[in-house]
Amino acid sequence: MKGTEIQGFRLHDHGGPEVLQWGAITLPAPAGRQVLVRNRAVGVNFIDIYHREGLYPMALPSGLGVEGAGVVEAVGSEVTEFRAGDRVAYCMCTPGAYAEAHLVDASRIVRLPDAIDEESAAGVLLKGLTAAFLLHSMAPLQAGDAILVHAAAGGVGQLLCQWAAHKGLTVIAVVSTEAKAEQARSAGATHAIVGGPDGLAEQVRALTGGQGVRMALDSVGASTWEASLDSLARRGWYVTYGNASGPVPPIAPLELQKRGSLVMTRPGLADFVASREELDYLSGLLFDVLGQGVVKPAIGLRLPLAEAPEAQRRLQARETSGSIVLQV
Ligand code: NDP
Repeated sequence: MKGTEIQGFRLHDHGGPEVLQWGAITLPAPAGRQVLVRNRAVGVNFIDIYHREGLYPMALPSGLGVEGAGVVEAVGSEVTEFRAGDRVAYCMCTPGAYAEAHLVDASRIVRLPDAIDEESAAGVLLKGLTAAFLLHSMAPLQAGDAILVHAAAGGVGQLLCQWAAHKGLTVIAVVSTEAKAEQARSAGATHAIVGGPDGLAEQVRALTGGQGVRMALDSVGASTWEASLDSLARRGWYVTYGNASGPVPPIAPLELQKRGSLVMTRPGLADFVASREELDYLSGLLFDVLGQGVVKPAIGLRLPLAEAPEAQRRLQARETSGSIVLQV
């Protein structure tokens, strides 16, 4: 098979959305464990911004984007589990999904159930797997437990609210506007607090009879870490899983002991889907709740693929809610 000519984005420098350059790309024929996926929809994630800005190291030049859904066009000689024509979705792959097609290692790909269309898959796979590990692989959670969810109207946030509500958890959402509070409540949040970190812990204590929450799911990072720690119940879990406002500074272990023998972890999805078994486990949980309709893909913005820089600008400016999908 010869190379495939496509259009897509490349990155030659780190910087703002303007460093994304649209143009012709030649993809080589898939080799070994590679699969050539013809994208129908591409997911936009905050990690794309960390890659673009250089917060997460990436060799340049590079493609951008780690999530997409579409149809298998060709497979490398060592791929036996997928073949041309399969409907698939992928995430946490080598960056380059912001393109008409992408070469993806077979280990990053899941077959799509008939009931899930490509647009929904691109809106829900990476963020839904994240919600899956946050709710199933951190603190053991029981119905009635209270959790704090930052950026609760966002892509990951709305999925967390829906799923946590289904599990009977009390969700205290944190958002920046009244409109986002309404979205978080519609997604299943029990309470929604509008505003920044000031006074947050006091409000959380007031909502939990003075106890604090069992787990704080904090994707905002630099501006919220202290309020999250202060919102936790004794032996609660501080799960810092994102840096939307910047990375969290070093935290001394004694700060955890002082606040009640807290647990702190900084998880990344890659370590929860590293093997085929792990990916199948989490995607199985996700496809189950999607199939039952208790979690619905919350796509808040659709833009043509060529408008990826604008999608990133809006995501970073806190103008979006739900997932962002690029249409191919
Ligand atoms: P979101 O749709 O949640 O967008 C980010 C939201 O963060 C904004 O809408 C905004 O909500 C809030 N926010 C607070 N402060 C800032 C700030 N200074 N700049 C920008 N946004 C801010 O994005 P995603 O769903 O794509 O990702 C959510 C988070 O989850 C990200 O931090 C991401 O890195 C993390 N993540 C981590 C993974 C992991 O494996 N650890 C995997 C996937 C995602 P509001 O206006 O309500 O404050």
